[in-house]
Amino acid sequence: MSQFIEHFIAGKPYSEAAGRSGPVYNPSTGEETSRCAYGTHATVDHAVVVAAEAGRKWGRASHAARQAVIFKLRELMIANLDLLAEVIGREHGKTIPDAKGELGRAIEGIEFACNAPHVSKGEYTNNVGGDIEVFSMRRPIGVVGCITPFNFPIMVPAVMMTMAVAVGNSIVWKPSEKVPSAALEFARLWKEAGLPDGVFNVVQGDKEVVDAILEHPGIAGVSFVGSTAVGEYIYQKGTAHNKRVAAFTGGKNHMVVMPDADLEAAASAFVSAGFGSASQRCMAVSLLLPVGVETAERLRELVIPKIQALKVGPYNDAVADYGPVVSRESKTAVERAIARCLEEGGELVVDGRGLEVQGHPNGYYLGPTLFDRVTTDMQLYREEIFGPVRGIMRPSTFEEAIEITNRHEYGNGSVIFTRDGKSAHRFMMEIESGMIGVNVPVPLPSAYFNFGGLRRSKFGDGHLYGPDAVRFYTKFKTVSQRWPEPDDDAMPVSLAFNPSA
Ligand code: NAD
Repeated sequence: MSQFIEHFIAGKPYSEAAGRSGPVYNPSTGEETSRCAYGTHATVDHAVVVAAEAGRKWGRASHAARQAVIFKLRELMIANLDLLAEVIGREHGKTIPDAKGELGRAIEGIEFACNAPHVSKGEYTNNVGGDIEVFSMRRPIGVVGCITPFNFPIMVPAVMMTMAVAVGNSIVWKPSEKVPSAALEFARLWKEAGLPDGVFNVVQGDKEVVDAILEHPGIAGVSFVGSTAVGEYIYQKGTAHNKRVAAFTGGKNHMVVMPDADLEAAASAFVSAGFGSASQRCMAVSLLLPVGVETAERLRELVIPKIQALKVGPYNDAVADYGPVVSRESKTAVERAIARCLEEGGELVVDGRGLEVQGHPNGYYLGPTLFDRVTTDMQLYREEIFGPVRGIMRPSTFEEAIEITNRHEYGNGSVIFTRDGKSAHRFMMEIESGMIGVNVPVPLPSAYFNFGGLRRSKFGDGHLYGPDAVRFYTKFKTVSQRWPEPDDDAMPVSLAFNPSA
């Protein structure tokens, strides 16, 4: 009998008598392991009422009281590392070391939220005129709706939500229906950390829950991470309902390699950043752009054996480099992308199709696949393919490499490998990406810097984490005040616009 995964509302698991539900799979085996509750508009209504009430008190709690919870959450994350990695691996398919890497970055986000009292400080000026002082304070916005993707079941929620909670908001979170168990574990840790019931709520489900969040008048802001098509919809619908919305979306990340680069290091970086987590990362390197024919030939020869040496296996195989993709549909989509690239004239250099992993005939496995001679008219350049198929493009000059990178609709991360400071400087100035790496293949910034792409990799002007996330999760109130002495002259009537000056 498979397990049933519930919602989490008001500090406890919550289920509805005749609710909808959907299957959850273990991608490493292809088995249906559980069923997940799918909420409705009514579930979201209930969660918002609970969150609004709990949030009013939480928003008035002292910084010290709130920080005590965040510090405790950090300790609990560390104490539960093995359990969380197992839960992530089972439903996502990523290997245990990869899951622990994800948790490390989640903890970093929680640590940054320990700075909430500092980064949410207001502004003050005395005597702006007539003994009037003006100050601005940052206040929580209220109930925040969070919608997250499957590919980082804990890291994305942790970096997205911990600062929101730390500055006094409450949460209604819809996790990906592909990885619902991690959400319940995370909710359990918040409760154990001492967060008052009702501040952190999980409503499991699909588009119906998303729409209920976007339409709900009790939700002040929506933070989304996921694909570009869904993110654009969420931004448009959420803002039409007068919410602030920050949506962090797809990527197609280019890696430019200059002739002077350390090619051996660049080849390893491309294979690691390109195929890690079965290429299911928004910051994965998708396309390798060696500058000039000679660099392309040498780099191609270096990357092929490294790709062929990669081992694919179930999430709990200690020697696997990466695991399955998340679903049967994902596997089919990647196989279609390979067939399409062949039709469009790509040169298939490493073919990962038809991979069989011993003992797991129904797992969603795909071997690493590499195409050469990818051009800008091909699907493999134009679209994000969320699985282990990568491409080499062949710009003749640095200018052409910049042009190919900037012509893409996405601008999440772009990287350059070079030993020349001038090329690196020009790259960082001219490339239209939110995150840029120089000899760093995955330029995911530390939690105390702002994270977010440019162009169609982000909708709205917020950042997912870093100091700017505090701006997104707070509203300014600006107070002008004056405390006249008892014997001051009475204020005369004045209809002038600026009587305080
Ligand atoms: P997705 O867009 O399919 O799903 C994201 C969330 O939206 C899920 O909770 C899902 O249930 C919901 N959703 C799906 N379809 C919907 C619809 N039609 N209407 C309303 N809601 C819907 O994304 P995914 O496959 O879970 O995750 C992979 C995508 O996320 C990739 O495109 C990846 O690049 C992106 N991503 C981006 C970042 C970033 O920071 N920019 C980080 C991680 C992942």
